Amino acid sequence: MANSRFEYVKSFEQPDVLLPNTWIVVRIDGRGFHKLSDHYSFAKPNDRAALDLMNAAAVEVMKDLPDLCIAYGVSDEYSFVFHPSCQLFERRNGKLVTTIVSTFTAHYIYKWNQYFPGKPLQPPYLPSFDGRAVIYPNSQILRDYMSWRQVDCHINNLYNTTFWTMVLQGGMSNTDAEQELKGTVSADKNEILFSRFGINYNNELEIYKKGSVLYRQQYELEEPKSTKSADEEPSVAQTQQSRSQQDKIRKLRRKAQVVVDHVDIIKDEFWEKRPWILS
Ligand code: ATP
Ligand code: ATP
Ligand code: MG
Ligand code: MG
Ligand code: MG
Ligand code: MG
Ligand code: MG
Repeated sequence: MANSRFEYVKSFEQPDVLLPNTWIVVRIDGRGFHKLSDHYSFAKPNDRAALDLMNAAAVEVMKDLPDLCIAYGVSDEYSFVFHPSCQLFERRNGKLVTTIVSTFTAHYIYKWNQYFPGKPLQPPYLPSFDGRAVIYPNSQILRDYMSWRQVDCHINNLYNTTFWTMVLQGGMSNTDAEQELKGTVSADKNEILFSRFGINYNNELEIYKKGSVLYRQQYELEEPKSTKSADEEPSVAQTQQSRSQQDKIRKLRRKAQVVVDHVDIIKDEFWEKRPWILS
């Protein structure tokens, strides 16, 4: 590009590269979805179509960005996890967050009619999302992050299920239900649901209780062929081969089916059964 006397303005840009070798979590959240869900009459406490649409948009984001290894969604939020080896956009914070937010939003809006036929989107009630990136230094803390979101899902869902049952089935006013639930613990809410409404919270749908976890189906990696011993410097040819190996991994990840699951991700079992997700 030609140097002009205006070129200097470029130097006002601040670097925002995220620390190397760390897990990057980009969490997005719907802006003003309380109002938006009222306007389009989402079912309370859980609108299944709205959750399915969130999941469908997130699957497309996973397909678009093979550097993502797992995602977790609940309500109007989604967390997308980039592997520590990710080099997308040289790990620039702004580029990563804006790409996730706009790709997700584009698919969410593109698919809206499929999930809400007969409820066309109308300004000013257009879905938009904010986003942020947070880095985590090791997989244990990354797992604690995921656990934090799933615990949040459980606490909110138990509260919302009890509140809306008291209002919709119990005929209570919103204020009365809110007042009665103030200071209650989980056991109290379970008891209200069971003794007054015959609802066993355990029988609620897993998607509501556990949220949604997205990951790639296991993919087979061929071992890279190497004729050299480990202590030799890699040749140019080998470097190129490892680059093409990296491209191969990308392609495999891109091709691998993305699974949508509603399971416990707090206990070890989920991770031990699927070691490829964080590897
Ligand atoms: P902000 O812009 O600060 O995020 P918000 O109105 O989006 O504000 P959140 O705390 O993100 O507030 O909560 C999202 C709200 O959207 C929920 O409280 C709920 O009212 C509604 N909502 C989101 N998803 C669903 C769903 N699947 N079914 C019913 N309601 C939903
Ligand atoms: P990156 O993802 O790195 O931004 P890019 O392909 O979007 O890659 P840009 O430097 O952003 O590259 O350039 C945008 C390109 O899009 C232009 O070079 C041009 O080819 C095309 N383009 C954008 N707007 C128009 C337009 N109005 N008419 C014709 N071509 C356009
Ligand atoms: Mg928010
Ligand atoms: Mg929100
Ligand atoms: Mg939210
Ligand atoms: Mg560009
Ligand atoms: Mg461009």
